[in-house]
Amino acid sequence: MKKKPLIAGNWKMYKTASEAVALVQTIKAATHTISDVTIVVCPPFTALGKVSELLADCRIELGAQNMYSAPEGAFTGEISPTMLKDVGCRYVILGHSERRQYFREDDILIHEKVKTALKYSLVPIVCVGETLAERESRTHFDVVKTQFDESLGRLEKDDIAKVVIAYEPVWAIGTGKTATPDQAEQMHSYIRRLISERYGQEIGTKIPLLYGGSVKPDNTRSLMEKPNIDGALVGGASLKAESFAQIIQEAQAAREAGVKS
Ligand code: PEP
Repeated sequence: MKKKPLIAGNWKMYKTASEAVALVQTIKAATHTISDVTIVVCPPFTALGKVSELLADCRIELGAQNMYSAPEGAFTGEISPTMLKDVGCRYVILGHSERRQYFREDDILIHEKVKTALKYSLVPIVCVGETLAERESRTHFDVVKTQFDESLGRLEKDDIAKVVIAYEPVWAIGTGKTATPDQAEQMHSYIRRLISERYGQEIGTKIPLLYGGSVKPDNTRSLMEKPNIDGALVGGASLKAESFAQIIQEAQAAREAGVKS
């Protein structure tokens, strides 16, 4: 039985608080009839408070794009899990490739962040994925295995069961190049196998696996039809209410068509 799809929008470093309010109002209006998809928006930190207020009367969930691994302390410029909970977040993206690439985040730090997020009842959306050079040198499965082992593979069973994993090939993020549904499915089924081998089949089957990398309305359906793709982490196309809503509608349509039953 396929899971209810999860579509998360990563707004990255776009939208002031007032622009975020306008965007989320339009997303709300465009998606209010959707009930079969879990929708998450991840605005920048400065917009979380205002967006949270607007989400109080709807099903759309709030997520952050990052957090620090300590609950509080002298960490100038960082944001804690308690601050995210306080403002209404349920999800937090961790280990996004842009964090790994530009802010030198490694799997050790990401593992610490994941543990802290879980301790404070946030659902971590943990990103893994290979670069173009790694795919071309055919080391992509090894790269993703190492990311999985080091950022997630030491969690207890009860904890891993609460995690969402996003496979985001770095070469497909913001480039307009999408992994083909077969390429994505191949990696998703590999990740599911890694989870099952380490934690057992029940947990392996249960964990939602999102695909991310230039997801657009016209490629959503073919990705969502794959058995091991449970949703999408959407960057660029989540910044316009129309395309984000279309992606959500495509995910719902795929489910309604029985593909996801
Ligand atoms: C992302 O930022 O996680 C992402 C997948 O971006 P895009 O959809 O723009 O490729």
